[in-house]
Amino acid sequence: MSMKNYLKIVCLIFIFSSCKNDGNNIKNTKQPIHAKRSSERKEMIIHILPLGTVNATILDFIKKSIYDFYQIECIIEPKKELTTDILAASKTRYEATLILKKYNSTQNTLLITDKDIAYNNSKKKAKEWGIFGLGFRPGNTCIISTFRLKRKVGEAKFKDRLQKVCIHEVGHNLGLPHCKNDPLCLMNDANGTVSQVDKERIFFCTNCKKQIGMK
Ligand SMILES: [Zn+2]
Ligand SMILES: [Zn+2]
Repeated sequence: MSMKNYLKIVCLIFIFSSCKNDGNNIKNTKQPIHAKRSSERKEMIIHILPLGTVNATILDFIKKSIYDFYQIECIIEPKKELTTDILAASKTRYEATLILKKYNSTQNTLLITDKDIAYNNSKKKAKEWGIFGLGFRPGNTCIISTFRLKRKVGEAKFKDRLQKVCIHEVGHNLGLPHCKNDPLCLMNDANGTVSQVDKERIFFCTNCKKQIGMK
């Protein structure tokens, strides 16, 4: 993957820090990012690829969530094992950018793992931050970790968060930037907290919908 593609990586949801100043604020550049519109989405299939063991009911739940929201069909693929080449520097979790680099595909791919994933923003000299997800904008590939979404909450709350994060990351893949239009819209930057995710509704504001030709 080229450096240019790296720059297209947007963060998605940090636990501790905002991704507002991630160097990827492409919103104000002269060439707008092309967002996939409804006619293109109709042709799309997203391959859900578990990294390590992920419960089958969770995989089915993600598939249903994406179909219900975007009407995009998903295919659940056999799992791939997590390998040491994608470990973060701490060796205690996996590095999301390495995962995206390794598994970036011409097929639309949603990677899902139960393991903790991290993002290391060297520009800010920040340390490794645990995150919920990361995806290209626009692009074909995103990674989501259930690790931080299910801590200290019951199944219903966990599934609500998981659904929101999956829709958010796929939204970035489709070309959507973070939303500043409506605090309840799923494309908001989580600004570091799971409480933002909890605040959001399962919906896109009119501005986000318009960009991808959604009714
Ligand atoms: Zn995001
Ligand atoms: Zn929005």
